[in-house]
Amino acid sequence: MGRKLLQNKELPATCRHYTTSMDAGQAAQRRATIVTDTVRQVLPGASDTVLSQSPRLELTSLERPELEHALVARGHPRFRAQQVFQWLYRRGMTDPAAMLDLPSELRRELADCFDVRTPQIVSRERSTDGTEKFLLRLADDRRIESVFIPDSPGPTFCISTQVGCAVGCTFCLTGRMGLVRHLTAGEIAGQVRVLRQALALGTVPFNIVLMGMGEPLHNYDETMRALRILADPHGLAIPMRRVTLSTIGLVPALEQLAREPLMPNLAISLHAVTDEQRAALVPIARKYALEDILKTCRRFPLKKRARITFEYVLLAGVNDSPAHARTLAKRLAGLKAKVNLIPLNAAAGIPFERPEDEVVNRFARILAERGVTVSVRKSRGRDIRAACGQLIVEGTPLSPAQRLATVAFVT
Ligand code: SAH
Ligand code: SF4
Repeated sequence: MGRKLLQNKELPATCRHYTTSMDAGQAAQRRATIVTDTVRQVLPGASDTVLSQSPRLELTSLERPELEHALVARGHPRFRAQQVFQWLYRRGMTDPAAMLDLPSELRRELADCFDVRTPQIVSRERSTDGTEKFLLRLADDRRIESVFIPDSPGPTFCISTQVGCAVGCTFCLTGRMGLVRHLTAGEIAGQVRVLRQALALGTVPFNIVLMGMGEPLHNYDETMRALRILADPHGLAIPMRRVTLSTIGLVPALEQLAREPLMPNLAISLHAVTDEQRAALVPIARKYALEDILKTCRRFPLKKRARITFEYVLLAGVNDSPAHARTLAKRLAGLKAKVNLIPLNAAAGIPFERPEDEVVNRFARILAERGVTVSVRKSRGRDIRAACGQLIVEGTPLSPAQRLATVAFVT
């Protein structure tokens, strides 16, 4: 848990024990701290997450071993944590009073000492293609969006990892918001809990793509924590082969990811074939050269037959020529890669246009002729602005500190 929680003096006396008992989870904490410190060197402000926003522990931000430690320290048997996880994640029940197989004393303690900050659905919109966009309100009244795609190829949740994004890609509306704040693990995993329940998916297997608002590797600790919570066998038990993490390619964080025991599928947002062009489209590219990203990808531990997806947003007349396609094929040579072409989802405020279908097809053909596996992303939910890069929640002006943090991140 965050050190700030351990220092919190405002806790009710009955609850202090929980936080100090988290010392028992120090091994996990130490690992997370090493990651945090490394990422922090290049990402000022990273992992200053909001775990400490409340004086109480956020129950749904805890991994099961942490909850076990907390409960054991209170004199409860370890297996109670498994029961709590089953209530929270399988049965979708967050009110301790309703967790009927727990002793009443534990139910009371859970209610008194923990917060459950489930994102609340403010509105949901359904596209003509069946895609649904959910506007969710967080405990501090910030808003995020999550998207359900019914057949991509199976049911898929596209979830957010930050409110806004500091990277500021010039073609992405989320990027135009700047970074408002990181999401907690509970808020990231909470989107899955909420959507699954709202859609009454029951036991139907589903996929998760971290392709909503935000850059997941900028919020490394909370994102990985959320994945461990979602993968827990006593919770939703989501296999990592059903999860795809899409990133702009923050090299130190990618290197950390390569060492994680829990490994989602990896998608790298490339968008350009030269550093110069990438820097014009993706401000963070000034920090990380294309070749460094590709070198890290070459070393990335992949399972048998697994490949890294390279996403490439096609912008009319900018990066969509046959020469761009040929260079892309060359740069990816020797990599276990597949390319996902994303014709731009245009919107007011985005200074680019979507290429014609023939241009997209020509680009795909050139890659395929050179032996690159290529797919073209079908745009989903465009009529409700749920497509890639169209997620934005208006009316959240940045504070001067947030604006500064965003500037610090990209320069
Ligand atoms: N920050 C991460 C994940 C969220 S964005 C990343 O950039 O990878 C998910 C995908 O949407 C990325 O590949 C991104 O390039 C793409 N995208 C952003 N804006 C877009 C737009 N206007 N049209 C099409 N795709 C867009
Ligand atoms: Fe951030 Fe991804 Fe949008 Fe770029 S495309 S601004 S990294 S969310």
